[in-house]
Amino acid sequence: MNLWHLFQKLRPFVHPYRLLVVATLLLTLIASFTAQVNALTLQYAVDSINRLIESGQGLAQGWHILINISVILLGKEVINAFVQFGQKFYGEKLRIFVSQDLAQGIIEKFLTYRLAFFNEDHNQAGKLQTRIDRGIGSLTRLVQIFFIDILPLFTSAIVALGLMFYANFYVGLVALCIVPIYFWLTYKQAQKLGGWRRNLRDGREKKSQGILSIINSITVIKSFNRESIESEKQLKLQKELTDNQMQTRQTSFLFDGLKTFIEQIGIVLIIILTAYFVLDGQMSIGMIMYHVLLFNNVSAPIRSLHRIYDEVNDAMIYSESFFRILEADHEIEPSGRQKPLIHGNFELQNVEFYYPNGHHALKQINMQIQPNKITALVGLSGAGKSTLISLLDKFYQPASGQILLDGMNLEQIDTQYLRDHIGLVLQKNHIFQGTIFDNIRYGKTDASLEEVMDAAKKASIHEQILQLPQGYDADALMLSGGQQQRIAIARMFLKNPPIIFLDEPTASLDAIASEQIKHSLDQIKQGRTVIIISHSLSQIIDADYTYVMREGRIAEHGEHDALYHQDGAYKEIFDAMAKSLNIEKIAKTFEEDAEEETHS
Ligand code: ADP
Repeated sequence: MNLWHLFQKLRPFVHPYRLLVVATLLLTLIASFTAQVNALTLQYAVDSINRLIESGQGLAQGWHILINISVILLGKEVINAFVQFGQKFYGEKLRIFVSQDLAQGIIEKFLTYRLAFFNEDHNQAGKLQTRIDRGIGSLTRLVQIFFIDILPLFTSAIVALGLMFYANFYVGLVALCIVPIYFWLTYKQAQKLGGWRRNLRDGREKKSQGILSIINSITVIKSFNRESIESEKQLKLQKELTDNQMQTRQTSFLFDGLKTFIEQIGIVLIIILTAYFVLDGQMSIGMIMYHVLLFNNVSAPIRSLHRIYDEVNDAMIYSESFFRILEADHEIEPSGRQKPLIHGNFELQNVEFYYPNGHHALKQINMQIQPNKITALVGLSGAGKSTLISLLDKFYQPASGQILLDGMNLEQIDTQYLRDHIGLVLQKNHIFQGTIFDNIRYGKTDASLEEVMDAAKKASIHEQILQLPQGYDADALMLSGGQQQRIAIARMFLKNPPIIFLDEPTASLDAIASEQIKHSLDQIKQGRTVIIISHSLSQIIDADYTYVMREGRIAEHGEHDALYHQDGAYKEIFDAMAKSLNIEKIAKTFEEDAEEETHS
């Protein structure tokens, strides 16, 4: 991406503030003229005073010169104060507004992306966050550089250069010749630094991802005593980063030295040249100061050119990935998708699916989900059950084959509309920071307290909430796993979708909590299309129809009895589950218990 592309991409963000831009530009123009006043005044002062002295006059005749100088310089400063204030303020206002829009823009955008986007390796939370933060930072700095730094300096430089040429063509030419050399040096510097800056960015992203991953796995790290290994990993990253920074600095300083040298040569040349013209009688003595000061106006922006160049380069590197996020082609939904009446009759035809990392997770899936029935998905972990549910919820798109819902291709159905009709209860449901009330209400954002309580009652959690000191205003994150699960189920009652996907809803819970939740689930299953993934015998037996998955394929399907008597994968899994429960012993315990009761 070059600077032009960058500006093209930034344009829509700056466009709403074009009045601010015009105001800033006008002030810039005024400032570029007032910046030359010092040089003009000094030349006037030196020449007028020189003339007075040469003609043998003194202070008595020179008062008007002093008054003139004072009025001009003070007047200029007053104007300058206003202009600079306006320029900085409008520039800053522009920067702040653009930054706000960029931040909001990217959040709105990536909220619409498919899960596949967030699953890509380079989009892990830490990396994504760094890229977004730095992207917004650099882009807004770019706006600032352009409107507050570059533009004023360069207009002033061009005006100064014009004045130099106007006063003396040769001096102007010398000043002009320095400029391309300077530009060339800055360009070379930027070229050399480009690669390292990119590495620096990658290093920084890795570092923040590393810190995040340490925080996320701190329990594992500590329980295995792996602190030193983790710290070594970080040290390695840190060292790479430091090397990179040193290289970057070294090159920068080398080129900075060279550039200062060139600039000084420019000044020397101008002094020599103007002194020559003065001695030759072609110029007044005030012109020496005049040109030196003007050259200063020309070289000042060029001096800060490398800083600006660095920042622009940074902005380009970071904004490249920022715009890649903003324009990721994971965006969904052309408009005009349909909103048919949804019953829940899913049909999958030859569905194939690959994860973004290339893993072939679903192979030749053909299945039919009956509406208003309970369908169980059974299989060893990693068989592809959750993946299948993700596809039905349109979190991912099949690579080939098609998924029909009530006869209509899922792709044709409006995604938001579809998800409004699907309830998802996962093994570990997400409870947000906030009260229990807010967490349940997430299912229907305008629900009243009565509705929320009603949902909690159906999910068998109402009584327990009432026992908390703060009741529905208690912090939901403080609840136990089983309670959180029931909050999620209550949320689902509020949402009241016709289709429900349950992905191991009791897997992480103890027996009593599981039993209570089973009760809540039995309630919510009624009259809906339900797909349940479970390792719980009772939940599988409850299903009307079962699909057995193995390594991404459907291995068997049928009703419980028929499947069990097929002596295949289902029987194997079912027996293993029963065995793990030690059913014989359990049965014996119950028998003994019953015998004792009959004896007594
Ligand atoms: P199940 O629900 O049957 O336990 P999953 O559907 O979660 O299985 O996973 C099926 C396969 O896809 C597994 O081999 C798993 O490693 C892989 N997988 C799951 N999620 C991802 C992902 N985001 N990226 C790549 N591979 C994945």
